Amino acid sequence: MKTIFSMIRFMIRAIWSLFWGLFWTLALSFALMVGILFFSGKTGKGMDGVSRAVETVVNQVEAYLNRDGSFGSPSDQTAQDGVTTDGHTATGARWDQPKATVYIDPTIDRAFVRAYQEAVKAWNQTGAFTFQFVKTEEEADVILTQMDDATVSAAGEAESQTNVLTNRFQKVTVRLNRHYLLSWKYGYSNQRIVNTAEHELGHAIGLDHNEEESVMQSAGSFYSIQEMDIQAVRQLYKE
Ligand SMILES: [Zn+2]
Repeated sequence: MKTIFSMIRFMIRAIWSLFWGLFWTLALSFALMVGILFFSGKTGKGMDGVSRAVETVVNQVEAYLNRDGSFGSPSDQTAQDGVTTDGHTATGARWDQPKATVYIDPTIDRAFVRAYQEAVKAWNQTGAFTFQFVKTEEEADVILTQMDDATVSAAGEAESQTNVLTNRFQKVTVRLNRHYLLSWKYGYSNQRIVNTAEHELGHAIGLDHNEEESVMQSAGSFYSIQEMDIQAVRQLYKE
């Protein structure tokens, strides 16, 4: 009788320590991954960088848990194949001056708000085009928002209203498609979401697609703003 009890006690203890061991291993790996990301400098400085690092690791873990298909298969890569950045068609339209007012829809996903802020900052830093934030949608030339659309195979879109006589933009609405960009199945990193936002803002400036190493590549969102993109904007607003 006594041996049965001590066996049960032993088993409970073993399970308990196994559970804690597993818990600590996971917790430490998580902290380690966040730490590596943060100190690599890829997620930015300060608390913002830490929270972005945490978010990235959570996304990766979630992506791993939500992946479909057999163990270890790169299903996200396959799922991503058909998705383009957008199906933009060239119009040759632009703004009158290399500047526009911009408004971020405050109701959209936080990840998108941050991506838009980064993308606007990146374009402004080029000096070739200036986006100026305004407080209301009505004052804005460019509205930055989102969509959740599985019926299109595009990660984003830039819908423009153009004065056909002057070929100047009147309003541009940019939408990032959360169906792809925020779904772990498609494996978009934060950097590629920012690249997509920079790409759509490129359309909002008046840039068209090219298949060079450019932010305006039509698929993949693998490049941020490149020197050739800055030159393209300068060229577009030359006169
Ligand atoms: Zn595009």
